[in-house]
Amino acid sequence: MMKEHQHYLSEMVKELKPSGIRKFFDLAASMKGVISLGVGEPDFVTPWSIREAAILSLEEGFTSYTANPGLLELRQEITTYLNKRFGVQYNPVDQVIVTAGASQAIDLSFRAILNPGDEVLIIEPAFVSYAPLVTLAGGVPIPVSTHPSNGFKLTAEQIENAISSRTKAILLCSPNNPTGTYLNKEELTNIAAVVEKHDLLVVSDEIYAELTYDDEYTSFASIEGMYERTILINGFSKGFAMTGWRLGFLAAPPSFTEQMVKILQYTTMCAPHMLQHGAIEALRNTYHEVESMRRSYRRRRNFIVQSLNNIGLDCHTPGGAFYVFPSIKKTGLTSEQFAEQLLLAEKVAVVPGSAFGESGEGYVRCSYATSLEQLQEAMKRIKRFVDSLEMKKSQTEELYTNN
Ligand code: PMP
Repeated sequence: MMKEHQHYLSEMVKELKPSGIRKFFDLAASMKGVISLGVGEPDFVTPWSIREAAILSLEEGFTSYTANPGLLELRQEITTYLNKRFGVQYNPVDQVIVTAGASQAIDLSFRAILNPGDEVLIIEPAFVSYAPLVTLAGGVPIPVSTHPSNGFKLTAEQIENAISSRTKAILLCSPNNPTGTYLNKEELTNIAAVVEKHDLLVVSDEIYAELTYDDEYTSFASIEGMYERTILINGFSKGFAMTGWRLGFLAAPPSFTEQMVKILQYTTMCAPHMLQHGAIEALRNTYHEVESMRRSYRRRRNFIVQSLNNIGLDCHTPGGAFYVFPSIKKTGLTSEQFAEQLLLAEKVAVVPGSAFGESGEGYVRCSYATSLEQLQEAMKRIKRFVDSLEMKKSQTEELYTNN
């Protein structure tokens, strides 16, 4: 019956693969007693005063549309925040747009800049949305693989090698999902030189900017010469523990935002009014809570990196976000087999690295946005699982040598 509908459907959408992350969520959700290191969202509930501000907004009857790019009061808070935290200056009137999560901000960016066939370099392993969003905007995603030998850091040389006459933009994500890799000012400056040389744009996904653990964060827009070339993406989901609110924002030169506002006008109009009041409170008064969450993630990161290395799964120490990306190559399993067998044998959910592009094969993503107690238990289970694989391997080897 369903098959009869196929010819009605968009070929482009049919070609898109469903997210490799969701598949494991669904399997894990159907089982009892699972410890999930799979989800990419904070285990903290949004700080109370933010929730209270949204409740108050509803009580006071703020139930109408807002201006397309969001409440001016919120845009002003966003520009103050971007200036104070990252030293970048934007005009709240025509350079900031409040969106339905960073996700919509990324979508708007690609739709506003891409013509059919334009290429966008996507740093792999990469967040699952980037390539499909480029495709949906008529562009062509070009993966650029990074390597564990330097902690999955993108180098200027890797970009140079991927550039063609159709390259329009680079999608940067620091700290990165899934590797947690963070690029410092010097590394960003090296990338900026290539961007300048080839006259490219940069969509800079800075959603994990509040979650760096060893270094002060550098926004790509603050690198000399890059302000004019950068669409800065950020939001409330990760740092402020507000994933379900669906609130993000972007900041860019007015020539970009002018085009994006038109897309907003014809699609979602604006972000929810009452939730924008919550976001104002977030930026004004909750920074101490963001810092306390960051300290907690840092402790968990140190614990999980050490534990995985002790288990024998090589794992670099990521500079940010809340993911680690250990190698599972020594087990001889593919990342999908590893994730599936671990879930069935020990009820721990991780995401196969292959969900983040070909260069993620041989790795799994573990999120440490879960309590230390849960992480300790998860590490015990992973150790038991890896030890059982070792045992099986040595038994098989013994069998072969004895024959
Ligand atoms: N960018 C990255 C790198 C992410 O990991 C995520 C969420 N997992 C997003 C963007 C989307 O964030 P939001 O909830 O603000 O849409």
